[in-house]
Amino acid sequence: GAPVEKYEYQAEVSRLMDLIVNSLYSNKEVFLRELISNASDALDKLRFLSVTQPELSKDSVDLDIRIQTDKDNGIITIMDTGIGMTRQELVDCLGTIAQSGTAKFLKALKDSKDAGADNNLIGQFGVGFYSAFLVSDKVAVATKSPKSDKQYVWEGEANASTYTIREETDPEKLLPRGTRITLYLKRDDKAFAHPERVQKLVKNYSQFVSFPIYTWQEKGITKEVEVDEDPAEAKTDDQEEQTEKKKKTKKVVERYWDWELTNETQPIWLRNPKEVTTEEYNEFYRVTFNEYLDPLASSHFTTEGEVEFRSVLYVPSMAPQGKDDIMNFKTKNIRLYVKRIFISDDFDGELFPRYLSFIRGVVDSSDLPLNVSREILQESRIVRIMRKRLVKKAFDMILGISMSENRDDYEKFWDNFGKHLKLGCIEDRDNHKRIAPLLRFFSSQSENEMISLDEYVENMKAEQKDIYYIASDSVTSAKNTPFLEKLLEKDLEVLFLVDPIDEVAVQNLKSYKEKNFVDISKEGLDLGVENEQKETEVKQEFGRTCDWIKKRLGDRVASVQVSNRLSSSPCVLASGKFGWSANMERLMKAQHA
Ligand code: ADP
Ligand code: MG
Repeated sequence: GAPVEKYEYQAEVSRLMDLIVNSLYSNKEVFLRELISNASDALDKLRFLSVTQPELSKDSVDLDIRIQTDKDNGIITIMDTGIGMTRQELVDCLGTIAQSGTAKFLKALKDSKDAGADNNLIGQFGVGFYSAFLVSDKVAVATKSPKSDKQYVWEGEANASTYTIREETDPEKLLPRGTRITLYLKRDDKAFAHPERVQKLVKNYSQFVSFPIYTWQEKGITKEVEVDEDPAEAKTDDQEEQTEKKKKTKKVVERYWDWELTNETQPIWLRNPKEVTTEEYNEFYRVTFNEYLDPLASSHFTTEGEVEFRSVLYVPSMAPQGKDDIMNFKTKNIRLYVKRIFISDDFDGELFPRYLSFIRGVVDSSDLPLNVSREILQESRIVRIMRKRLVKKAFDMILGISMSENRDDYEKFWDNFGKHLKLGCIEDRDNHKRIAPLLRFFSSQSENEMISLDEYVENMKAEQKDIYYIASDSVTSAKNTPFLEKLLEKDLEVLFLVDPIDEVAVQNLKSYKEKNFVDISKEGLDLGVENEQKETEVKQEFGRTCDWIKKRLGDRVASVQVSNRLSSSPCVLASGKFGWSANMERLMKAQHA
């Protein structure tokens, strides 16, 4: 045979394998889900590439996944007819970690250690290929890429720091295309090689994989066979019955093995929304996005007319792990299909504006060309129309959560994605009307529970024209500011903008329901005149004092004025009407520090 070459794993891989084995021992069954998900990805890649390179799939091999079990020897084989791997890809993909799923796992593991979460939770993460070693002593990956005319076999063993690669020379073992993974199960895990066990796992975890998954099952066919009459018995019966018994047949079950389709292959978005249960939508979400939590909301719709497409969208219940930076919006959140063929999940704001990039889902269009490229997407009128509709549906979904009887749901949403919507205030003027009702703030009359702008407006005094706010770094410092004194006295509600982005967001909105947002820390706050004569007197009396203070402070202040905005504090530092607020200045300083 061809020479066997030995390789060392990248150090991180060995560490990762230890971690996986140590933290997932109670959740071993995830290995099957991971390997099926890789097979499905490989099939997606092949199908996508063969749109522009038809020669890739010329040898009319079906796109499917087949899982065979040998329970006597404790072996599971998972075959796919996908894109396969070249020798170099075997080294890059199975000997190093640069992959999304595994990175996510490491992060989750770290977070859960910090938070003391249990191992079960971690078990729900995409831990990738190495999870095969949870149940296997040895793993063999035979693979044939259309880019190479050779087939290679990767072999690794549990608890080893090296793996091998060799070329396959046995013609009997050659694959037409794709990958065959053979798991040699550990002694205690051989039960996974029972066909019914595998079937059950596929149904549980991989029901919505969009390629057919066949499992190798024992079947029975009932046949009728004629049976000879028992002559001893015949004697005791009368004549009539005897003739009937001569023709008597027996039913026997003949056993044989065959492939059985084990998953649902009709994509969920092609089904009638009335016939899909919430549990099915949630499961599709978990499988498609490798998530462990159910989404907060989903929306399944079809649009017709100018542009035709189908879509299922979701609002996740948690912001993605390790993605604190909302500006980083390449999230692979939307999977675009054209006529059921997966095209891409790598968007750059084409289908959703980046502040909505947390929305997940699938979109299937029949109006886009199969070989659609990024350039086409960016310039397509069809895509622009799709984007409009998708955005509207996304807002409908969020509004739905906000109106849900369960207030916790929207609180959860706001905790995770409130920042995104505030970013929307800044970036998407066209959707201000949709975003504004979804915003939430603390206020002087609601320090513990956030309120909506509608709630604020409802609570406004009859003569009140504006929406008052103060920006600060916390509710505590907001409520202790002297700016608040007069407003509290007059029982006017003031929004507390305590998130750094709040102030800019509100300034971009400018108004809500024709009521302007007014910063109470700025010069010229007009709260109406209470006693004109008294005010004039006071101004006269203290005019010279003001001049004197201004002289002492010099350029450090723009002016010193008598004001009616305080009730117990002697003085307050207000910002100029057109300048930055003190809060903004603090933020800018922090940024440039
Ligand atoms: P992820 O799926 O998140 O990328 P995995 O550890 O599951 O991480 O897989 C690592 C990589 O190995 C994949 O990205 C892919 O390139 C390659 N791979 C794994 N299984 C297959 C397969 N059945 N066919 C082709 N490539 C595969
Ligand atoms: Mg994977």
